[in-house]
Amino acid sequence: MRFTRFGLTTLRDTPADAEVVSHQLMLRAGLIRRLGPGLFTWMPLGLRVLRKVEAIVREEMNRAGALELLMPAVQPAELWQESGRWDKYGNLLLRMSDRHDREYCFGPTHEEVITDIARRELRSYKQLPVNFYQVQTKFRDEIRPRFGVMRAREFIMKDAYSFDIDPAGLEESYQAMHAAYTAIFERLGLHFRVVDADGGEIGGNRSQEFHVLADSGEDAIAWSDGDDFASNIETAATLRPTGQPAAATLDFEKVSTPNARTIDALAKFLKVDPAQTLKTLIVEGDEQPVALVLRGDHELNTVKAAKLPGVKAPLTMADADTVRKATQCAPGYAGPIGLDCAVFFDHATAVMSDFICGANEVDMHFVGVNFGRDIERPETADLRNVVEGDPSPDGKGVLHIARGIEVGHIFQLGTDYSEAMKASVQDKDGNDISMSMGCYGIGITRIVGAAIEQNHDENGIIWPEPLTPFNVVLIPINMHRSENLREAAEDLYAELQAAGLEVLFDDRDARPGVKFADAELIGIPHRLVISERGLEAGELEYRHRSDEESQMMKRDDALTLLVESSLG
Ligand code: ATP
Ligand code: MG
Repeated sequence: MRFTRFGLTTLRDTPADAEVVSHQLMLRAGLIRRLGPGLFTWMPLGLRVLRKVEAIVREEMNRAGALELLMPAVQPAELWQESGRWDKYGNLLLRMSDRHDREYCFGPTHEEVITDIARRELRSYKQLPVNFYQVQTKFRDEIRPRFGVMRAREFIMKDAYSFDIDPAGLEESYQAMHAAYTAIFERLGLHFRVVDADGGEIGGNRSQEFHVLADSGEDAIAWSDGDDFASNIETAATLRPTGQPAAATLDFEKVSTPNARTIDALAKFLKVDPAQTLKTLIVEGDEQPVALVLRGDHELNTVKAAKLPGVKAPLTMADADTVRKATQCAPGYAGPIGLDCAVFFDHATAVMSDFICGANEVDMHFVGVNFGRDIERPETADLRNVVEGDPSPDGKGVLHIARGIEVGHIFQLGTDYSEAMKASVQDKDGNDISMSMGCYGIGITRIVGAAIEQNHDENGIIWPEPLTPFNVVLIPINMHRSENLREAAEDLYAELQAAGLEVLFDDRDARPGVKFADAELIGIPHRLVISERGLEAGELEYRHRSDEESQMMKRDDALTLLVESSLG
């Protein structure tokens, strides 16, 4: 590709509204352009990368025996009503109606459509197992689209759906996808980790996520240094501490704590560690509000809490009026003593003594509180996020927290959809059996951003070889002043292409410094500079994008190196 024909415009300055480095670099290098919130055009340079991701995903899916199809992006409401998700999916779902006032949505995912296909096409156990996949545009009306293509509203997903006669078959299909995903992310050259996960909106049973590790990741991942436990923090379990609380040393008292509405303010005012306090959160319940009680320095885990009996899912914090009704007091002073609603205590509170909690009275807290003396010793539950240093739930080692970007997700759905939508096949004996389903997603567009988060420096992107839009950038020096050099550059350009390399030929009449800066920004792994001086010695200047220095190489050696590292 000739630079002058590629219509590429790079930007010198960092766009102000791009928070993370991948978004900044994708805009600066001209990979994408923004149309509206969470909506992006893939420019020719970006599309080359996207197509490489897709190609690797397709190859590995096909190798695993999955069958590609393509379902409509627009889906009739009736299917979503059948599965029960028309109401459940909420505002993420982009709803619309046609000229006959029939309702539709723009698919955020395709379980309903594929289950409809399956119930029509699959009749007998002999047609199973089968796994269908597509590479399709999705729309989710995300509350906070951000980080460019990593949390967009319109994005491309590879989604696959497996159908089996029984749970054992599903387990095999699931493991095949686990292996295929591992192969995909290895081939993409990304540093990733597989973690246990929550099924989220899609429901179902066992599920795992594939995360690209990066400090900017939106997800927190807990992993153990003592065994192979790794989990999204959403589902990582905390254990009930084994010991007993220390004996009480303080008297139970009510003290005045003016304006101490938060744990921070309270701890500062009383000059105590936040870990010495209790935090009482009032959340919406199915009928009555529910109180959740945690150690002051701990964070509520909304996924776990939403699964407690009587708690409304998804977890919703109670508004000020509801808090007033539950605690007889303005928000900020809730505490478990004398509270007239269901109360859940987190495991970590079980070993607290001489602690501080709200008195359900404005500007007042109790201090020197002890279980068994001032308040009944409660049953405890797992309500909080694990923190660095917690024991691993499997019993070996301690947990560490890393940040990750979720690029893939595999679920065992079981028979939830097949039962709701009556997708069954006949088994050997002629019985109707609801098919066991699995679903498997990969965020194709998100991968491009995630790859850049992991591979860049202060000058720009450093593409892993399998993703790069071009293998080599060819930069002639002052070609527009030397016919001799122009010919040599054109010859080299033709020869590199003939060798099967994807070449960006920077044929612009621009200063070498400008060309070098763009080549670094765009992140092409190999750079060849051809100049009058090198020509005389039969040499080219070569530099890998991650090398400190360039080196002079014989023309043939340079070609061999390029072919071997790009195509080998
Ligand atoms: P997240 O937790 O990041 O919102 P999710 O768990 O809702 O994602 P899934 O339903 O598991 O997403 O979708 C499969 C894959 O699609 C995800 O693993 C992710 O790579 C990708 N994906 C999901 N939402 C988005 C988005 N808003 N923009 C880009 N990619 C996305
Ligand atoms: Mg997911």
